[in-house]
Amino acid sequence: MSEAMNVSEIFGQNAFNDVVMRERLPKSVYKKLKETIKNGAELDPSIADVVAHAMKEWAIEHGATHYTHWFQPLTGMTAEKHDSFISAPKNGRVIMEFSGKELIKGEPDASSFPSGGLRATFEARGYTAWDCTSPAFLRESAIGVTLCIPTAFCSYSGEALDKKTPLLRSMQAVNEQALRILRLFGNTTAKRVAPSVGPEQEYFLVDKEKYLKRKDLIYTGRTLFGAMPPKGQEMDDHYFGVIRERIGAFMKDVNLELWKLGVPAKTQHNEVAPGQHELAPIYEEANVATDHNQIVMETLKRVAAHHGMACLLHEKPFAGVNGSGKHNNWSLTADDGTNMLNPGDTPHENMQFLLVLACIIKAVDVHADLLRESAADVGNDHRLGANEAPPAIISIFLGEQLEDVIEQLCDTGEATHSKCGGTLKTGVDILPDLDKDATDRNRTSPFAFTGNKFEFRMVGSSDSIGSPNTVLNTIVAEAFKEAADVLEKADNFDLALHDLIKKTLSEHRRVIFNGNGYTQEWVEEAERRGLPNIKSMVEAIPALKTEKAVKLFEEFKVFTRAELESRAEVEFENYSKAINIEARTMIDMASKQFIPCVFHYTTRLANSIRSVREACPEADISVQKELLLETSDLLSETKVALSTLIDATDRCAAIGAGEEQALAYHSQVVPAMAALRAPVDRLEMIVDKDLWPMPSYGDLIFEV
Ligand code: ADP
Ligand code: MG
Repeated sequence: MSEAMNVSEIFGQNAFNDVVMRERLPKSVYKKLKETIKNGAELDPSIADVVAHAMKEWAIEHGATHYTHWFQPLTGMTAEKHDSFISAPKNGRVIMEFSGKELIKGEPDASSFPSGGLRATFEARGYTAWDCTSPAFLRESAIGVTLCIPTAFCSYSGEALDKKTPLLRSMQAVNEQALRILRLFGNTTAKRVAPSVGPEQEYFLVDKEKYLKRKDLIYTGRTLFGAMPPKGQEMDDHYFGVIRERIGAFMKDVNLELWKLGVPAKTQHNEVAPGQHELAPIYEEANVATDHNQIVMETLKRVAAHHGMACLLHEKPFAGVNGSGKHNNWSLTADDGTNMLNPGDTPHENMQFLLVLACIIKAVDVHADLLRESAADVGNDHRLGANEAPPAIISIFLGEQLEDVIEQLCDTGEATHSKCGGTLKTGVDILPDLDKDATDRNRTSPFAFTGNKFEFRMVGSSDSIGSPNTVLNTIVAEAFKEAADVLEKADNFDLALHDLIKKTLSEHRRVIFNGNGYTQEWVEEAERRGLPNIKSMVEAIPALKTEKAVKLFEEFKVFTRAELESRAEVEFENYSKAINIEARTMIDMASKQFIPCVFHYTTRLANSIRSVREACPEADISVQKELLLETSDLLSETKVALSTLIDATDRCAAIGAGEEQALAYHSQVVPAMAALRAPVDRLEMIVDKDLWPMPSYGDLIFEV
């Protein structure tokens, strides 16, 4: 039996969290820091030295030798540069030091991070600034123990170069406007409202040795070739299935690592596709949740390696089976405990909730393009708009109960009742009767109300949740502001409130859809309703640069026009680079692995035909001949497709970086990649398994 794990003792032992701060900081310093963390007060720089000292002592006691400012540049990943704590040697001796200045500010040589032209126009310098609202943590790895300090990353003149800075700005914006809404309803106690976020993370695990035999997995994180095995996910026998021992041992270590870091890992299960799994933490404030999701992704990868596996976070590692996403559960929580998205038992009477709901519906309808953009990444193109969950059209699922309340409001002007869930009867005496939720689930909606939160299901599994939450916070802040502007001035609050809710819902209910989001009928219906259907990343990016977007983000001081333009630039560039790497990997694999392999195979076939004919001239060799012909045809198809792909890739690579180049990669290289893949996948079904140069889909997803 494995040794027992004392989770409450382990939890947070590697995080410089509230417990440690209270213990180690002088009371006055602790109070000041807490004021910033809890209430968003400005950070008092005079406390930095004291905090830095305590942090260093704590880190060194836990074996740390280095510290790093940990940040999230626009690559979508995290970045770090390590410095040891040692001072300049004196008489051959060093001491371990770490100053307040080093805690608060870093200046990585940041010239190689994407800036979308911001640094070229302004300054090459980049600074990292301590984010005290996200606990510093100790990472234990082969390199030793490193103190990681979450930081924001900005340019010399303060432009955001990362995912954290705008997220923090958007949290400020939504806090301010949400408080106005609470005050309207007589709440005078709440001091701060923060978005709560719980991201459910999907991932695949494959065997490391097999992974290393596939250049596509190594270079691009997904398979670029591969025929479906005889069995896929059609039996649904993996979903919630018993977790196998090897995977279980991995999950156990992942939980341990995450708990030590103070990441509240909660739920784990097998997902729909074979080889696919999910991890969900308990929700936290958006900024901490975003950092913790990065830690989750890092940890999944690192622990997988310890178990002889590779963790694939790509949105679509395998064609033909489900891809991976990240369901971003979002709500607004006030510091007095109020969840502004809690409808209560009788939502038709809960006017504050109905106003909040109406505002969110409006925000999502008006800024559907921005939400869609926030979930766009290269891998997600294989999910969104590609007949897979969820569809690329943004719509909202509210469920029967709320839909009914809204109908009453819009149709009769008055909501008089709420449908209730009732009791679920199993028909078995010994089983308890269960209270039913008032609403069933809908798995096909990209934006679903689930009890007391919205679940934005479009986000890609490998992507940061920074951008989606930045957009959500900002668009809701705008809707709140517009509502508060009207209601604060109203002579008759109740009447004005009622009218505003009704008007808002009537104007924006087109975005509500409770049906099956995967059907063609919905695509057509959505078009009739005028909802955007943005199928690809390159078509999504321009949403960042519309006048509507600039006005929104500038008003709430989340992005300047220049920052938005730079982000669009970076995304176009990231797209082109990723597709270029995928195309070149395919070219490499086809030229050096598949074509030579098929040559071998055809030679083998030809030799066998010759031998059979020699040995037995009257034998029927039509099957062998047919096979040889079919293989040769596919081989020439492969060769032609390969040349086309090489030409298209070279042509696109020669275009200067930017929108034009990204569009060209999308319209020319992506289809050429598909055209090369098709004959190779058919060849895989024909050629002897012992000749095929890499593990098959079956080997990868069924034999972990
Ligand atoms: P689901 O409803 O998707 O089956 P859960 O209820 O377990 O699953 O929630 C999934 C995620 O949503 C978890 O990370 C959970 O902590 C988070 N969550 C639950 N309540 C809220 C809330 N009020 N705001 C934000 N996230 C929440
Ligand atoms: Mg969920």
